[in-house]
Amino acid sequence: MKPLQNRIADVVKNVPRSGIRDFFELVQGRDDVISLGVGEPDFSAPWHIREAAIYSLEKGQTSYTSNLGLMSLRECIVDYVRDQFAVSYDAGTEVLVTVGVSEALDLVCRALLNPGDEVIYHEPCYVSYNPSIAMAHGVAVSIQTRVEDDFELKAADVEAAITEKSKILLLNFPTNPTGAVEPLSELEKIAELAVKHDLIVVTDEIYSELMYSGDSGMERGKHVSIASLPGMRERTVLLHGFSKAFAMTGFRLGYACAPSVLTEAMMKIHQYSMLCAPIMSQMAAIEALKNGANEMEKMRRAYAQRRNLMLKRFGEMGVPCFAPGGAFYMFPDIRKFGLTSQEFSLRLLEEENVAVVPGNAFGEAGEGCVRACYATAYDQLEIALDRIEAFVGRLQAN
Ligand code: PLP
Repeated sequence: MKPLQNRIADVVKNVPRSGIRDFFELVQGRDDVISLGVGEPDFSAPWHIREAAIYSLEKGQTSYTSNLGLMSLRECIVDYVRDQFAVSYDAGTEVLVTVGVSEALDLVCRALLNPGDEVIYHEPCYVSYNPSIAMAHGVAVSIQTRVEDDFELKAADVEAAITEKSKILLLNFPTNPTGAVEPLSELEKIAELAVKHDLIVVTDEIYSELMYSGDSGMERGKHVSIASLPGMRERTVLLHGFSKAFAMTGFRLGYACAPSVLTEAMMKIHQYSMLCAPIMSQMAAIEALKNGANEMEKMRRAYAQRRNLMLKRFGEMGVPCFAPGGAFYMFPDIRKFGLTSQEFSLRLLEEENVAVVPGNAFGEAGEGCVRACYATAYDQLEIALDRIEAFVGRLQAN
């Protein structure tokens, strides 16, 4: 028998394991670790949303749904997306309910890419972008955003990356891992480029509700979807989901809104691989969209308070950190300590029992920074920050 290792598809063999997961294997089994690692809300899904799932089970709703998702959910999604993003979609043909944004991302890559087609995206970025492109036989073309620019994506850098093989421009604002929000003036220039070069834009807007603005940082900033800009709706696949703002990661629910030709192509893969998203999650999602605004805002305000605490404390420690406009991540610049992001994170874990993620887990452009997720209780964050302060104090003294 040939070694099993030789039977694995090349494309899978060549994809590295997630740097986040590897790092968190080190965290397992350690006592008293405060984790600012995994990007997951510390809140449980609000009770009325959980109840909707329970109630659906009690009613015996345990069947498949339409491949596209329950019509009643798609109608709620259309209303929500129109209110939040100012873009209108047809619930019958332009919305696909998926198993998280993760599945939607995989579907859009597989539905659109022929071998060799290029996908331009900005780094540092969510860990699954590069592998999702590679596993769909596409070519990942990364643009390095810079700490000096507060990780803003420059339209000029996008233009420089475009070739005749470019097919998709993949965007994520607010961005994981940096919390960066794209200025509207730059987003408009990027939209013009997409039209000029006839690119399909895939926009992952999973953090779009978690925006912070105003002097206090407590106000909900206005999110502008690139799908709403002139000439964009017909070339954009808008990805969104329930994991972050509604604290519903375990429900595994997301959606894609796009012109019907694209939705149909994605649905073909979805119907053969996933069939449909779980019905009880879909019922919970209807409740979230209809009645979830207040609980979501409470969680957002809690994140805003934690963000302010992190900003203040990093400032006092002399650790440079830009004020992120969204998501629930800080991305402090640790270059002045003369350690790589891996060394910094490992030593912080070993010496102070605080877990952060090395910035290079999100691509080369993340080197020199670490990601600290503040979806952790305020009192735990205070302790974690005391420990980080002790750690960087020692580094500074040497
Ligand atoms: N997109 C981004 C930018 C993320 O940060 C995450 C999760 O961390 C996902 C997508 C995956 O979301 P879902 O739980 O909907 O699959």
